[in-house]
Amino acid sequence: MTKIAFIGLGNMGSGMCANLCKAGHEVRAYDLSAEAVAKAAERGAKAAASLADAVEGAEVVISMLPAGKHVLAVYFGPGGVADAVAPGTLFIDCSTIAVDDARTAAGKADEGGFLMVDAPVSGGTAGAEAGTLTFMVGGPDAAFDKAKPLLDIMGKNVFHAGGSGNGQAAKIANNMLLGISMIGTCEAFNLAEKLGLDAQTFFNISSVSSGQCWSMTSYCPAPGPVPTAPSNRDYKPGFAVAMMHKDLALAMEAAKASGAAVKLGEMAERLYDDLIARGHADLDFSGVMKDLKGGL
Ligand code: NAD
Repeated sequence: MTKIAFIGLGNMGSGMCANLCKAGHEVRAYDLSAEAVAKAAERGAKAAASLADAVEGAEVVISMLPAGKHVLAVYFGPGGVADAVAPGTLFIDCSTIAVDDARTAAGKADEGGFLMVDAPVSGGTAGAEAGTLTFMVGGPDAAFDKAKPLLDIMGKNVFHAGGSGNGQAAKIANNMLLGISMIGTCEAFNLAEKLGLDAQTFFNISSVSSGQCWSMTSYCPAPGPVPTAPSNRDYKPGFAVAMMHKDLALAMEAAKASGAAVKLGEMAERLYDDLIARGHADLDFSGVMKDLKGGL
C-alpha cells in the first residue's frame, strides 16, 4: 500500500485515481474543483481540502493537469508540492505538456532531491476508466522502476522512452502522425465517394491495401465501416478538435526548437486551428470529414 497524492481529477484523472483506490492504495485527492474532489471521494479516495493537505506524508505524487504552466506551479510554485514533501518523494506527471516544460520540471525535481517522470498517456477517457492506458515515460531508471507498478494499475502498456521529456516527445510525435493520418484518411474517403465508391466498398479495399492505418481501421471518419467511431454519432467526441490542436501546437513548438521539418504537421495544425476559429472546437477530430462534405 503506497500513500499517494493525486492532483487533477478531471476527465482523465477521475478514472485513474479511482483505479489506484480500487487496487488498495491510500489516495488523497485534490482538484481546484470541489465537485471533482467530491466525486473522487465517492470513488474511494480521501478528499483533500488543499494541495498541502493532499501531499502531506505522500510517498508518491501523481498529477493529471491541463498544461505545463499548471504542472510547474503545482510542483514548484510558492506553496507547491516540492515545499511540502520529503526528499526522495516520487513525482509522476501524466499531463500532456511541452517537452521543454517536462525537462524544466525534471531539472527542478533533481535539484530538490526528488525523483520525477513525465508519463503522458494515450487511450482517452475510456482507457482511463478501464485502466488500459498506454504510458510513455521519460526519466531516470530509478524513477521509472518505482513508478512502473502504479502505472501498471492505470494502464496496459508502459514504455520507458528514455530520459526526462522523452515521454512527452513520444506522445506529441505520435499525435502529430495521428492528426496528419486522420486528415489524409478523410480526404481519401471523400475522393473515393466523389468518384463513385461508397464508404464501405472503399474501406473493404483500402483497409487491406497500402493505405491502411489506425485512423481508418479503428476510427473510420466516414460513417458505417467502424460502428464505434464518432462518425456514427455526428462526430461527437471521442477526441475533440481542441485536444488535437493542443497536441499539434506542442509538436510544432518542439519541432521549431529542435529544427525538425514538419510541413504536414504545420498544415494539420492550421486546419484544426481553422475549425476552432469557426466554432468547432468540441467536434471530434475526425469531423474534418464532415467539413470536406460541406456539412459544417
Ligand atoms: P480536464 O480539464 O478534464 O482536467 C484537468 C483538471 O485539473 C481539472 O479538473 C482542473 O480543475 C484541474 N486543475 C487545474 N489546475 C489545477 C491546480 N492548480 N490544482 C489542482 N487541480 C487543478 O483535462 P483532462 O481531459 O483530464 O486532461 C488532462 C491532461 O491529460 C491534459 O494535459 C490532456 O492534454 C491530457 N490528455 C487528455 C486526454 C483526453 O482524452 N481527455 C487523452 C490523453 C491525454
